[in-house]
Amino acid sequence: MQRFENAREAALALRPDDPVYCFRPDVLKADARRFMDMFPGKTAYAVKTNGERLVLSTLAEAGITAFDVASPAEFEAVRAVAPVAEMLYMHPVKAQSDIRLALETYGIRVIAVDHEDEVTKLTRIVQALDIDPGQITVFVRIQTRGHAAYELSKKFGAGPAHAVDLLRRLARHGYRVGICFHVGSQIEDPDTYERALASADWVRNRAGVELAALDVGGGFPAEYGHDPNRKAPEMPSLGQIMSRLRSDIEEWGFADTPLVAEPGRVVVARAFSLIVRVLLRKGRRLYINDGIWASLSDSWTGKITLPARFIPDPAIRSRNGDKNSIVPFKVCGATCDSVDILSRPFWLPETVDTGDWIEIGHIGAYSLSLRTRFNGFFPDTFVEVTTPFDEGTAPESFASLETMAD
Ligand SMILES: *Cc1c(COP(=O)(O)O)cnc(C)c1O
Repeated sequence: MQRFENAREAALALRPDDPVYCFRPDVLKADARRFMDMFPGKTAYAVKTNGERLVLSTLAEAGITAFDVASPAEFEAVRAVAPVAEMLYMHPVKAQSDIRLALETYGIRVIAVDHEDEVTKLTRIVQALDIDPGQITVFVRIQTRGHAAYELSKKFGAGPAHAVDLLRRLARHGYRVGICFHVGSQIEDPDTYERALASADWVRNRAGVELAALDVGGGFPAEYGHDPNRKAPEMPSLGQIMSRLRSDIEEWGFADTPLVAEPGRVVVARAFSLIVRVLLRKGRRLYINDGIWASLSDSWTGKITLPARFIPDPAIRSRNGDKNSIVPFKVCGATCDSVDILSRPFWLPETVDTGDWIEIGHIGAYSLSLRTRFNGFFPDTFVEVTTPFDEGTAPESFASLETMAD
């Protein structure tokens, strides 16, 4: 992989027409270690956030020894780079054949459920393979409520009484049991984990079973940008969320229970930025070579504002407008789809033009993992960059992306 000091150097050297992912392995390692240092339990990286081989192997180098996986392709991706790493199969709804593969071929011994039919599927395989259930930890996923950019409890999780029933049922079968939850991604309210811990406490007390572990899921927020015309939103820092989480864990009586977290976004967001090119400027519209069907769908669905930096093409000798005037441009994506328009503008100097580049920062989570081949566009060019996005010249603007669906 070619190496550059920053994205501007990469853009000027390569003059890329295709989007270019700028990978920062040192940032990834530092953010992974920061999380592991702060969290008082096992850190299992959520592979779906960004399952690129170079990400998984860098995380393994940083000392991550557990991974949250959801599919055979993810089992294989982890096994390929970290042969002895532990895998936690935390998807609550699974194909029977995938459960078999997990237990038999990959030796997975940690699994999540939120319904008795999943217990039946699991037990069928456990008996067929003659595995002692006491070697398997089954987490019951409980519902949670709260504020996150992405809510997940509408889809998964057992209600409290149902969870009690599942825990007792699993204990009767001889499994080790745990409770897990996932509060959604990019939480905005530090009370979110406390509400989930309170439910977990209620369920534990009613079930009357010994808990082998408590898994607090993911949801830890990453830092993004904001609309320059509005006040920056007040976001709790990871340090604040962690110290609050630690005291809530004490307060709800889980201090002696082995803990697991499954962070994704907060570990990998800062590790990548993306260089996009302005294919055409048409008045106050910019047509760029990426969009919601490639790297930008997460920011679109999650109403996340991404920080952006202008990289002018020095080959453009004459420009119109005032370079100190920062104005909004409507941004259209690369595909022919009429939905592929970011509803919030990029704020850029008035002088931006066809052929210029824009570096979009903190794009490592749910970007490359969500790329499609729609319309034949599939960004897949990587370079290594040594300077963190937030260092060097400040981004001239902030890219604001908001879903059109609202
Ligand atoms: C997606 C997911 C995660 C990671 O969530 P982040 O918000 O990216 O930290 C963790 N656990 C489960 C079960 C998930 O589905």
